[in-house]
Amino acid sequence: MKPLATYFKKKYNTVLNRILPSSYYPTRPFNLNEVNMDDLITQAAEDLAAAGKVTALTGAGISTESGIPPFRGKGGLWERFDPMEIAHIDAFLRDPAKVWTILIKEMKAIMDTAKPNDAHKGLARLEEMGKLETVITQNIDGLHQAAGNTDVIEFHGTFAWQRCMDCSRKFETSKVDISEIPPRCSCGGILRPDAVFFGEMIPQDAMWRSRQTATDCDLMLVVGTSAVVHPAALMPVIAKESGAKVIEINPEKTPLTDETSDYLIKGGAGDVMNQIIEKLGQIS
Ligand code: NAD
Ligand code: ZN
Repeated sequence: MKPLATYFKKKYNTVLNRILPSSYYPTRPFNLNEVNMDDLITQAAEDLAAAGKVTALTGAGISTESGIPPFRGKGGLWERFDPMEIAHIDAFLRDPAKVWTILIKEMKAIMDTAKPNDAHKGLARLEEMGKLETVITQNIDGLHQAAGNTDVIEFHGTFAWQRCMDCSRKFETSKVDISEIPPRCSCGGILRPDAVFFGEMIPQDAMWRSRQTATDCDLMLVVGTSAVVHPAALMPVIAKESGAKVIEINPEKTPLTDETSDYLIKGGAGDVMNQIIEKLGQIS
């Protein structure tokens, strides 16, 4: 497409995007095959500048650049393990020592030292700029809080604490003695992560607040999630149906990409966030 035509198409779309809610469009206002990465970064910065309430939904992919492997995708844990064998509550109840040995010990070693990366810092910067209110995260690594976001809904709980299965006392994970597996509370009960295993309910307050936040937002940034774990993956759908724009940041397409997202910015979360923030700084 010629540069002038591209210019008019972008202007036309920007104006339309501001007049009509994104859910109005039967299809996207532009053809993704015709736009390049720079255009999408600019579009995202413009959309953020124009939006009132902005929410982010994040998944394991935002933390890969901090050295924490995701479940799915390249280098994911599922390349080595069967999820139902080690991350399902039934598997844990059947053999807590096995799940501690294979999964939890490794996660503890990685998460004890993991630091926020540019993508976490970018979301914290967006909050500082007054452009992001709430982060709904499926992650259990605490890196959004470490980066500085103040309103973080931990949809799947947290790995920062272990909970006694008998008396519910909590222990800071980094301080838990793992010389004996499974580690135990002083009451003799087995410790488990204060996070949600497959097969368990989402904490009610996290579920309620996430739905509310998704309903109320004008724009949702969906960063580093494969969008296959439910009900977390429904939050962008709720946002979209409530009239919000949905922008995905991920190196891969997801089930949201064709059905729900306004557009996908294909790339690593740190790099993309850095570029969006730089652009946003120039236009606002
Ligand atoms: P997932 O493992 O199913 O998918 C990861 C997604 O991130 C993929 O779509 C992949 O393409 C994308 N990705 C990989 N590298 C990326 C990068 N640099 N930038 C942006 N995206 C990138 O993750 P999920 O959808 O969050 O579901 C897995 C579940 O497992 C979550 O519910 C979470 O509770 C748990 N989990 C958490 C952690 C963590 O706390 N860091 C790590 C692994 C799994
Ligand atoms: Zn106890």
